[in-house]
Amino acid sequence: MSSEGDDAVKTICPYCGVGCGIQIQQGEDLGDVNFRPWGDAPVNEGRICIKGGAATQVIDHEDRLTEPLIKEDGEFREATWEEAYDRIVSEMERIREEHGPDGMGFYGSSKTMNEENYLLQKLARRYGTNNVDNCTRMCHASTVWALRTSLGAGAMTNSMEDLEEAADVFWIQGANPGEQHPIANSQYFRQAVLEGATVIQVDPHANKTTRSFDIEETDRHMHLQLNPGADIPLLNVVLKTILERHEAEPDAGWIDEDFIEERTEGFEHLKETLADFDKEEAAEEAGVPLEDIELAAEKYAMANNAAIFTGMGMSQHTCGVDNVQNEINLALITGNLGKPGTGVNPLRGQNNVQGTSDVGAMPNVLPGYQLVDDDEARESVEEVWGFEVPDEPGLTNVEISHEAGHSVHGLYVMGENPVMSEPDGNEVEERLKSLEFMVAQDIFMTETAEFADVVLPATTWAERGGTVTNTDRRVQRMRGVEKVHENTKHDLEILMEVGSRLFSEDEFRFEDVEAVFEELREVCPIYHGMTYDGLGEEGLHWPCYEEGDEGDQFLYEDSFDTESGLGQIEGVRHQPPAEVPDEEYPLILTTARLEEHYNTGTMSRRSPTLSRQHPENFVDVHPNDAESYGIEDGDMVTLRSRRGEIEVKAQVTEDIKEGVVWTTPHFAAASANRLTNDVLDDRAKIPEYKAAAADIAVTVSD
Ligand code: SF4
Repeated sequence: MSSEGDDAVKTICPYCGVGCGIQIQQGEDLGDVNFRPWGDAPVNEGRICIKGGAATQVIDHEDRLTEPLIKEDGEFREATWEEAYDRIVSEMERIREEHGPDGMGFYGSSKTMNEENYLLQKLARRYGTNNVDNCTRMCHASTVWALRTSLGAGAMTNSMEDLEEAADVFWIQGANPGEQHPIANSQYFRQAVLEGATVIQVDPHANKTTRSFDIEETDRHMHLQLNPGADIPLLNVVLKTILERHEAEPDAGWIDEDFIEERTEGFEHLKETLADFDKEEAAEEAGVPLEDIELAAEKYAMANNAAIFTGMGMSQHTCGVDNVQNEINLALITGNLGKPGTGVNPLRGQNNVQGTSDVGAMPNVLPGYQLVDDDEARESVEEVWGFEVPDEPGLTNVEISHEAGHSVHGLYVMGENPVMSEPDGNEVEERLKSLEFMVAQDIFMTETAEFADVVLPATTWAERGGTVTNTDRRVQRMRGVEKVHENTKHDLEILMEVGSRLFSEDEFRFEDVEAVFEELREVCPIYHGMTYDGLGEEGLHWPCYEEGDEGDQFLYEDSFDTESGLGQIEGVRHQPPAEVPDEEYPLILTTARLEEHYNTGTMSRRSPTLSRQHPENFVDVHPNDAESYGIEDGDMVTLRSRRGEIEVKAQVTEDIKEGVVWTTPHFAAASANRLTNDVLDDRAKIPEYKAAAADIAVTVSD
């Protein structure tokens, strides 16, 4: 197969945040869309993982929504677009009249493009509410919070290329790139390791990342298998070790005194926090031998350049902001920021979760992370939009869901599936039932769309163009082939129509995607210097403040984007998960994703290639726990928490620690999120998916 088809179009894989370039080619029949490699794609140079290779399989799936649907007497019936729009507009107007604008909530989608999310958040704000959010809340809201407040921007500080070239040590905590970012793992991390870099992985679960760095010289790969929720104690041992050794050997380079002096504030607070800190007790809390953590601390501190990668194992806790702050502390005291091969780098999950946040589909920020309660920033956006924006942050998506039936009466859901993506899924279903009105815009009838009053059939990623922003801030263009089903519409077209009917054509009618991008860059300082055409095939890493800016491979070379220009160090103390094991629920349940599936599985469960790899959910159980519960490998077991139960197959394995069980959220009938706890981090409002109390038993058939 040629890698360059004449009529193939260059686009971006619709799955994870790595942002691999692929080509798609229109086949003879409509809906017959073929995958082709893109040999010199900027991120992946033609390489592709199993998901990317199978991405075109669901474009013409028989389950596609092809006509608008309206629910009457509890049943959906086909409707015209005119009827659907009339219903949406009249219900949204009624809700605003009866309950005020905060009576509606809006969910953007990281599976859709920047322009679509931009228009959705503009629609919410024109409606008069900041109740707009996206799934970054579920994955990296706490990371974004910590990075934004302590360094300046809620994104990767560095880029994959500079990390591969310059990092000597990769510290990967609560992330599993071998599974969730396969091309980043194989193309960048593994390559660096082959050339001599060291990997320190901190994760409660041994996984594909652990196995992908099978280095003979074993001290170049360490796996610190900690207890779920013990990241602060573990990192505090690392920090305390570095401070102690620095005191003993002040000239050995354990910390970077000049960097601390010139570029940070808060070092004294960190020292005070750790003054009476007991390393042995903390190592026991973490469940990792003290000498292993000390060795890892030495490797990180002594590296020329050390880069931290952070994932949802860090962010999805009630102490998610503090978890990431402690990683920032580590990078700042060792001077591992502001240069190639360093930094604190969140690995983002979905292909446009970075962009969806960049363009303002969040309740506290406008495009470009400008705070809604910053008068100057808000007024500058209002000037372009021509209407006033509420000056108080709105509700996050889990808060919107908590308020359903109380202060929130209507919901506009674009490409999201909260019944499966939010914690405590059984309760989410009940709350959706109590809404007065809900519209769902999607490509399939999702578990959430079932509860909607109006369902709008949208087109897939392969049928339209726009921009997406990957995990290392690279804004890239997607391009589409022909539409498969005549009566489906692009998300942008739908939003333009709803906005124009509710408000005015002037505010919501655009000639094309490029025109939306033009308005976006006017109100989004970090995208301001980009032009749609100028993105070309390479894309650009934000920030691009002025036209001609080439974007930054790494941030903060000279100063941080904080008020003082200094990086913020702040000592943090251990906070156990909100729910800990007890007599009734003696195990810790933790959750994570699989390489072959994608979040709520809407697309990946329908792909024959992906579904074949993992057709159903399972739970990893340690052999000692299996023995005490009488579980054999392959048994069906019932996994219970205070919020529900699921039946899954047991996989008995030493990949997981004793006392911990591990399962996934991808499968509708047996999703981990029927069990997870919807308690939130106070500041970032991210739920604690990674630790809940649970029990397990062999399933007894009737
Ligand atoms: Fe797609 Fe991510 Fe796989 Fe690349 S690594 S092909 S972006 S799923």
